[in-house]
Amino acid sequence: MTQKRIKTQCCIAGGGPAGMMLGYLLARKGIKVIVLEKWGDFFRDFRGDTIHPSIMNILEELDLLEDFFKLPHEKTYQIGFQMNGEMRILADFKKTKIKHPFIAFVPQWDFLNFIAKQAKKYPNFDLRMETQATGLIKQKGKVIGLRATHKKETLEIQADLVVGADGRSSIIRKKSGLEVKDYGAPMDVLWFRISRKPNDPSQSFGCLEKGRILVMIQRDDYWQAGFVVNKGRVKKIKAQGIRSFRQYVQATAPFLGDRVDEIKSWKQVKSLVVEVNRLKHWSKDGLICIGDAAHAMSPVGGLGINVAIQDAVAAANVLVPAFRKGVPALADLKKIQRRRNFPVKLMQRLQLFLQKRLIGKILKGKGNTQVPLIFKAFQRFSFLKKWPAYIIGIGPRPEHLSDEVR
Ligand SMILES: Cc1cc2nc3c(=O)[nH]c(=O)nc-3n(C[C@H](O)[C@H](O)[C@H](O)COP(=O)(O)OP(=O)(O)OC[C@H]3O[C@@H](n4cnc5c(N)ncnc54)[C@H](O)[C@@H]3O)c2cc1C
Repeated sequence: MTQKRIKTQCCIAGGGPAGMMLGYLLARKGIKVIVLEKWGDFFRDFRGDTIHPSIMNILEELDLLEDFFKLPHEKTYQIGFQMNGEMRILADFKKTKIKHPFIAFVPQWDFLNFIAKQAKKYPNFDLRMETQATGLIKQKGKVIGLRATHKKETLEIQADLVVGADGRSSIIRKKSGLEVKDYGAPMDVLWFRISRKPNDPSQSFGCLEKGRILVMIQRDDYWQAGFVVNKGRVKKIKAQGIRSFRQYVQATAPFLGDRVDEIKSWKQVKSLVVEVNRLKHWSKDGLICIGDAAHAMSPVGGLGINVAIQDAVAAANVLVPAFRKGVPALADLKKIQRRRNFPVKLMQRLQLFLQKRLIGKILKGKGNTQVPLIFKAFQRFSFLKKWPAYIIGIGPRPEHLSDEVR
């Protein structure tokens, strides 16, 4: 093992939506930033694919929207789900006054490569792939950098600020000792691909049947499918064998019956543990966590990427002026949490409500699968469908770039 020492202003652990966006925003304002990503590329199937109108607004402020729309994407104007065999629309973006009234489904690797390409235009942006943060360097209680490994090399990166943007299993958060509160999730997800045929539904959707939920994300010639199961049931399902899994899939989405045989082995199915939690304090001297590292979001409602990118924008709005004056103080870092606490808490509460009142009940398969009253109201009074669209698409307290960050 060789050892290398590096110095920078800001070192971000994690090249997901939060880390990449913050790295880009800081670099374009002349701040020296290193982003560490443990994998060699951004190509992972189980990541969310949604880019929300609030993010399109931010991309527009950055003059990137036109180029963003050149990425392969699918526009979704309504969000619906199929329950007891009937398709129901929950959110209708066209009923809102939102400027870009749709969710853009963009494979996350395309979006992250796009941000990386923009960021690499700035010489002070240093993206290090296959580089894994392993620990923090502290001095008298203050975080002054982090340790990382890259192939056979160990790195000691000294930084005025370390950002933990390394997702829900954040090593930075673990090593920081910051207190986490866990809110639980009743489910885990089994992800797999299955081919898409010309007569299939044209948009992404979810099938909700007694005891079973299947999320179908449209990716042109194939579906990225997520089979949602009761927490802790993955082992049992796997023990029943791949044939019985195929039967579950077919029973939930009968139109897949002619191709479920494509799922030949468990190697094609990735299991993902769902968590919902939040840090009490997001920062300590020299360190802040953002995105899922500060508050792991459930996949419910596809809100996590929106929240993570808005964290990055809120952080940049505080950090750019702070770096211009010198080194961000703990008081600056606390400002970021103060700004983001309310929207994050509200969105997580909404996810917990849906997990408990809808998903948990469906998965248990007990009694009648009732459509919750509030959803019935959305069906009955069509104009109400603009509210869930606004909450999902824009969310509470949307972030914009400050004049200094633009
Ligand atoms: C099953 C599932 C489906 C979801 N679907 C959606 C959806 O459709 N829409 C949506 O908005 N949200 C969705 N979410 C939530 C969303 O994925 C997250 O909230 C969002 O990705 C958080 O972004 P992030 O940048 O904070 O973290 P992440 O996206 O998790 O990124 C963290 C990055 O850090 C890297 N990393 C981890 N450890 C280290 C380390 N030690 N050193 C260096 N790098 C490291 C990881 O490889 C990763 O690239 C889903 C979540 C789940 C669990």
